[in-house]
Amino acid sequence: MRNRFLLCLQLALTWLYFAAAACGVEAVEPRAAHVVFLGTGAADIQWPEKDSSPKALYIREHAGRNVRRYSSLFVSPGVVIDYALTGREGLEAAGIAPSAIECVLITHSHGDHFQPAAIVDLAREKAAALTVVGNSAVVTRMQEHLEGLSTAERPAMTLRTVKPFEEFDVGRWRAKALAANHMPNEEALLYVLRNADKSLLYATDTGWFPVGTFAALRGEKLDLAIVEATFGEEVRPNLLTGHMNLPFVRLVKQFLIDGKGLKPKGRFAVTHLSLRFCEPYDQLAPKLAEEDILVAYDGLRMEL
Ligand SMILES: [Zn+2]
Ligand SMILES: [Zn+2]
Repeated sequence: MRNRFLLCLQLALTWLYFAAAACGVEAVEPRAAHVVFLGTGAADIQWPEKDSSPKALYIREHAGRNVRRYSSLFVSPGVVIDYALTGREGLEAAGIAPSAIECVLITHSHGDHFQPAAIVDLAREKAAALTVVGNSAVVTRMQEHLEGLSTAERPAMTLRTVKPFEEFDVGRWRAKALAANHMPNEEALLYVLRNADKSLLYATDTGWFPVGTFAALRGEKLDLAIVEATFGEEVRPNLLTGHMNLPFVRLVKQFLIDGKGLKPKGRFAVTHLSLRFCEPYDQLAPKLAEEDILVAYDGLRMEL
């Protein structure tokens, strides 16, 4: 009797879901919030092709998770953080349709994170308005690019400028921009995204966080913290002016754990890994797993 009741209930719910979809009403999201790393590399993703060192050779020979596209993150539902030359390839490899993206958040205007032409192509493929959010440098560049196109070539796009520590709605997420420590002439941004019960931090590109960003993170309860580790174990000061290394990353992780900014079951992952300076994935991932640091790779999907 109970089984029959449950079966009827399941059938009714299935019918409701498809009826809502058929009416054009947005059905309940069938899958839980999750992220997919579309890319996890830094600006030097082509380096292994041009170099003959053992590390470059290893990456070329073993490929797989050792190869990286430019850093970009899909946050389901609806958001992509950073989108450049390899963005489309990342979506394709992950089986994500352009129509699944409502909003592109850009961290800063460096070419490995932001490419206006690639975003225009995405908007065209999507065939519906796309929202692009970034700092004033990003929005100005996007605007200039759109103005250079004819009316027929120009896709529907909404641009929004945000400042560090500003909160705003982005599709079905509440976002907060945080200040990065990355470049002298532009307010590079990190992002926290929250919904009713899940929250994540995406922190690249940045060196040691600005004090206001640490203060803002004290109030978060993150399920997932994604932090850049561009230079791996490198400690040369001249490299660490706008990017992290793993010793910095370990301290950031400890800060989040000590201040309960990361939930007890929250996870900590690194991205934006320079192929030249970091060990290849095959060697780095098992080492960092011992410290509960997950080394992201292109195509990695994580449920929130
Ligand atoms: Zn970068
Ligand atoms: Zn950068």
